[in-house]
Amino acid sequence: MSSTSDSHRLDAELAALASFSESPPPAVTRIVFGDMDRRARAYLKTLFGDASLVVREDAVGNTFARWPGRNPELPAVATGSHCDAIPNAGRYDGTVGVLGGLEAIRALQRAGFEPRRSIELVLFTSEEPTRFGIGCLGSRLLSGALEPSAGETLSSDGQSLNQVRRAAGFNGALEHVALSPGAYSAFVELHIEQGPLLERERIDIGVVTAIAAPASLRIIVEGQGGHAGAVLMPDRHDAFLAAAEIALAVEASARSTGVVDTVATTGVCEVFPGAINSVPSRTRLDVDVRDIDLLRRDAVLAAIERACGEVKARRGVAVRLEPINADPPAQCAPAIREAITTACESRGLRHRPMISRAYHDSLFMARIAPTGMIFIPCRDGVSHRPDEYASPEAIAHGTEVLADTLAALAK
Ligand SMILES: [Zn+2]
Repeated sequence: MSSTSDSHRLDAELAALASFSESPPPAVTRIVFGDMDRRARAYLKTLFGDASLVVREDAVGNTFARWPGRNPELPAVATGSHCDAIPNAGRYDGTVGVLGGLEAIRALQRAGFEPRRSIELVLFTSEEPTRFGIGCLGSRLLSGALEPSAGETLSSDGQSLNQVRRAAGFNGALEHVALSPGAYSAFVELHIEQGPLLERERIDIGVVTAIAAPASLRIIVEGQGGHAGAVLMPDRHDAFLAAAEIALAVEASARSTGVVDTVATTGVCEVFPGAINSVPSRTRLDVDVRDIDLLRRDAVLAAIERACGEVKARRGVAVRLEPINADPPAQCAPAIREAITTACESRGLRHRPMISRAYHDSLFMARIAPTGMIFIPCRDGVSHRPDEYASPEAIAHGTEVLADTLAALAK
């Protein structure tokens, strides 16, 4: 059974989806539950309906489009990704997995394939942490990794998640979002690599073996402010300088493992009061640490905590650590990796195993279903920028490999 992706149509749909944006093209900004997110969802649901898929939404807005199989009582094979976009992003992150997933299903339909298991396309709510501060909101709730109480504890601009989602038309109790284990026999996500390796090595498909374990924490340093002219150097307890030392310790802690898979980033530094003539009294750092090895990742977190204690004592400041998340890594299922590899070989595509250093909804789906990921190259490895680009050819390869993989898992 060989299906062919309609690359013109898919390209046009990716362009149409990109037009639902809060920033002018080529930038795409689509914040969850905003006006553009709602219009993008409506557009996608129309396409799902056109493909005769049965659509259902849950209380947090995860959207499921099912192609019923011959044995609909069997656990379904699922694919999907997200369509929210961080401010000033591009048009391919997540959307390739949603529209590519849809095109894979349509390609199988056109080829006359009749799946034994149902095939379900999932549009996950809020993979990006932009609005509620936590990534993979929809898949965390689906997999039970996040408690339904998050509806009240998470907030955006003074409104709880529950208030925001209800205003967007997603009612019902978050308690009903979690899927029962065994709901899916497999989950496969198609995604742009968001890194340079595939393009550099001229490889068509990355077969993901593991997804790195992300952790993030907020570090608040409280020192003593004062007039930049009047407070003499020996008397200072500068919150920013303490934070700067901590940021360097974050880097040193990651480097100290001696392994390229360990990465740590201080991506946010907010200095208060933020005036040129005022000694910083408070500084907030947001720190992201990732590794494919959980123990090593946690050792880096412990080293950062020790460094905070040392800086605190030496500089006479207060340091508070607030964990934001600390998720375990995920291993991709050997059977799914094999199905992806077989698809690449039968289509004559170059492939290689690789680690996903970014996290995706797959990280959480792996808790409830055997999971795999298909990566395609993107230009210069660029993502989360307006110039993010994947060629129609690369997307067609990914879509066709996804179609073959879904067919193999659902037959
Ligand atoms: Zn993504």
